[in-house]
Amino acid sequence: MPTINDRRPKMRIGYGFDSHEFFSGVPLKIGGVMLPHDKGLGGHSDGDVLLHAITDALLGAIAGPDIGALFPPSDPNWKGADSVIFLGEALKRVRSAGYRVANMDASLILAAPRIGPHAEAIRGRVADLLQVDADCIGVKAKTPEGLGTSNTAIAHAVVLLESEPAQAKPLKKNLSNAKAAGRRTTRSKRGR
Ligand code: MG
Repeated sequence: MPTINDRRPKMRIGYGFDSHEFFSGVPLKIGGVMLPHDKGLGGHSDGDVLLHAITDALLGAIAGPDIGALFPPSDPNWKGADSVIFLGEALKRVRSAGYRVANMDASLILAAPRIGPHAEAIRGRVADLLQVDADCIGVKAKTPEGLGTSNTAIAHAVVLLESEPAQAKPLKKNLSNAKAAGRRTTRSKRGR
């Protein structure tokens, strides 16, 4: 007779979507990489549309709460926060559930800037954050033909998780640690 452990999936897939509007005078950060451009993405945090989509994909894969539930825009802790904090919290939850990232694939849809010259840097940064090799990270960019979203950046992300039983441990105080990190980031941003 199968036990609960036997029924635990060896692999899990997750999907995330996000969109942010461009605004003048805002730094542009995509995939944790600052890109030279005359506009950046608005939002309560740093507006990193790609990291937000990947965060939701990770959380979705383990049937967790979504990014908005964990880091509500109404919480001043996350104002101007580095989205790496959100991704880190999702990754901790993935590990606590006994999984690791196998690979991630994303599509970015934006009119400008061109992502091609920065794709390798973004893949490398995301690979570091997800602790996988860069050849397990796909980042593709498309222009929004016919979508009428030329002032918006859109990201779709899919992650595949694989079981890592040895790493499974209970979730403890992950969110409070992330909140502390968020407060530090917010304070350092105020100081600039
Ligand atoms: Mg977002």
